[in-house]
Amino acid sequence: MQQDSSLSAMSPSDVYEQERMENIRPSGWRNPKPASRYHLVVVGGGPAGLVAASAAVAMGATVALVERALLGGCSLNVGCIPSKAIIRTSRLYAEMRHAEHFGAQALGEVHVDFPAAMERMRRIRARISRVDSLQRLSAAGVDVFLGEAHFTGTDTLSVDGTKLRFRKAVVATGARPDTPSIPGLVEAGYLTNENVFDLTELPRRLLVIGGGPLGCEAAQAFCRFGARTTIAQDQPLFLPKEERDAAQLLSDVFAREGIEDRLNTEAVKVRMEGGQKLVDLVSADYQSTVAVDAILTGTGRIPNVERLDLNVADVDCDAVTGIRVDDRLRTRNWRIFAAGDVCLDHQFTHTADASARIAVHNALAHGRRRLSTLTIPWCTYTDPEIAHVGLYVREARDQNIPVRTFTIPMHDVHRAIADGEEIGFAKIHVKEGTDRILGATIVARHAGEMINEITLAMVARIGLRTLAQVIHTYPTQAVAIKRAADAYVASPGKPTIKSRLRRWAA
Ligand SMILES: Cc1cc2nc3c(=O)[nH]c(=O)nc-3n(C[C@H](O)[C@H](O)[C@H](O)COP(=O)(O)OP(=O)(O)OC[C@H]3O[C@@H](n4cnc5c(N)ncnc54)[C@H](O)[C@@H]3O)c2cc1C
Repeated sequence: MQQDSSLSAMSPSDVYEQERMENIRPSGWRNPKPASRYHLVVVGGGPAGLVAASAAVAMGATVALVERALLGGCSLNVGCIPSKAIIRTSRLYAEMRHAEHFGAQALGEVHVDFPAAMERMRRIRARISRVDSLQRLSAAGVDVFLGEAHFTGTDTLSVDGTKLRFRKAVVATGARPDTPSIPGLVEAGYLTNENVFDLTELPRRLLVIGGGPLGCEAAQAFCRFGARTTIAQDQPLFLPKEERDAAQLLSDVFAREGIEDRLNTEAVKVRMEGGQKLVDLVSADYQSTVAVDAILTGTGRIPNVERLDLNVADVDCDAVTGIRVDDRLRTRNWRIFAAGDVCLDHQFTHTADASARIAVHNALAHGRRRLSTLTIPWCTYTDPEIAHVGLYVREARDQNIPVRTFTIPMHDVHRAIADGEEIGFAKIHVKEGTDRILGATIVARHAGEMINEITLAMVARIGLRTLAQVIHTYPTQAVAIKRAADAYVASPGKPTIKSRLRRWAA
């Protein structure tokens, strides 16, 4: 990747970075002498790999884990943790700028200290790296090998020339950013999640290419830090997977905050002129050129499969969708399983974790756990956050499931009013004629926290009728969920005691 040379994007080697490296890739580390054969070898030390190794050791297995770069993987180093840390600081700046809305005054002019925000992020990342540290893993009984793994047979692999034999293996090699093929982009230099957190200087003008979760979170955070931000998305809405009203609401928020939304727009060419990057943007009826100091791409991720020699191990894979697994996370080779971003559609740390547990259980305990039984929530950490679990209405319709929806706007929720966080809604879908929750979308400042209640209800098969009886602390924003449940109870057309008795008798 062409490092962006116009900005300072070399991570400073401060005490925090030194601590992080000492935890996740200690200098002077020597790989252990391998056992003659391991019960389990795990390839990749991101969330999936770390969970797989710990779960296997807890089952009494002999375990080796191989990591070619940094333990903690994307999530700790260049994903969840650094992004959430800078989002928090950027939110504080947004609030300071609107202090008067809260009956307060920012003391003096608000001056953004971007290097301090990034230093805070590094401090947090270093602290959390202790949890993923090599010392901890090794003390738990895992043989950790630093180096790149590739398969040399159906039950062997090599790490820089050292041979590891296994009864079972879990491949958890994750994914990396996909580079859009835009002429001139590589020559001009660009940022991805792999180097944007190394910045120590705020780009004055930023173009974000891609309006998925990564692009949206970054665009809002950088805009709040004071970068003049444009976001180009080649579809009619941001977060195209989400419900339309949620995505539309985000567009409105972006526009209000001063982000230049360029929907239905493609970046087609980049060139350097006078030290700035000129990017040609094309939409159906409009062509323009934006001049920026930095370009951040967030246009998708590709699985790390190519240097693993998976064919030698008889493991089937695709360069775009990753390792092919069945519902029990088995590959074509009965000894080898996969987990996390390298094989899943849902690329989140919590799914990496959950899938790793399934893979290890099935590999070592002849288990029959299935991925499809999981109820997986997710959240985009914009402000407001957009969280979802279960079916979208369009999916329910595609499956011919009749749906009834109960929506509570956040501006009717007392705590949201008191907090000045009224943008959003809680929307719960039930199967028509029942109180069974099929799915929910929550748009709210803390939607990522709130969605967990719905996930619990779905997993435990708790319907809206019961949720309506759950006492929620007042005033909290989660009262929105109780209010949606109350709306169900008060609604006409829900099953009566008579009809339920009739169904039961039948
Ligand atoms: C900017 C950003 C923000 C994100 N925010 C969130 C969020 O808020 N919440 C959330 O749930 N998810 C978030 N994610 C997604 C999350 O980071 C990933 O889903 C998660 O890290 C996947 O874990 P994994 O273990 O499957 O893969 P990874 O974390 O990618 O780890 C794979 C590891 O395997 C190693 N490896 C690869 N090939 C080899 C090899 N041949 N030999 C040895 N080692 C190898 C890699 O070096 C890497 O360390 C975010 C992602 C990004 C990019």
